[in-house]
Amino acid sequence: MVEFKNVSVHYSSGVDALQNINLRINDGEFVFIVGESGAGKSTLMKLMMREIVPSSGRVFVNGASLSKLKGNKIAKFRRSIGMVFQDFRLIQDLNVYENVAFVLRIADQPMKFIKQRVPYVLNLVELAHKARSYPKELSGGEQQRVAIARALANDPSLIIADEPTGNIDPKLSYEIVELLKAI
Ligand code: ADP
Ligand code: MG
Repeated sequence: MVEFKNVSVHYSSGVDALQNINLRINDGEFVFIVGESGAGKSTLMKLMMREIVPSSGRVFVNGASLSKLKGNKIAKFRRSIGMVFQDFRLIQDLNVYENVAFVLRIADQPMKFIKQRVPYVLNLVELAHKARSYPKELSGGEQQRVAIARALANDPSLIIADEPTGNIDPKLSYEIVELLKAI
């Protein structure tokens, strides 16, 4: 569950990116946030990822107030959510398998679990056959599917995707959205 209570974000540049936002997303909901460039969508998502904190108001994820998280609790919280970005953010010198395994390793998952989990999530995004390929050998749509597999790897309670189809052609964009909906 995600809840925003009277949330405002004022950037030091003088921009009021969000003003007094109240929002509640219940478990199991699939929500689209739509708005013109500069409307504040990425700011809203950065708050949910605890990349920034509000200038005023409070953000809760699964009941926890994100402003109160400190130090390694922030890193731990981030590992509990899946994130997908427009520019994929894959590690270029790791292959597909290793990109997914990486997030499991930093979450201290046992090797035995990693060996079964990586093929499982790659299978979900129908990329098991590309496990040994490197990001530059994949199309945009395939790279984004790897990023989705990686976001799913730690079985997150929340998946946040910021313009996940922004760098993908329109036909494949539908496939990415269908994939997210199916998940
Ligand atoms: P969207 O994702 O909907 O395009 P953003 O949340 O990125 O919108 O931006 C909302 C507003 O905040 C814009 O006016 C943008 O220029 C401004 N903004 C975003 N990030 C920063 C930042 N780090 N510092 C200053 N201003 C920012
Ligand atoms: Mg944005």
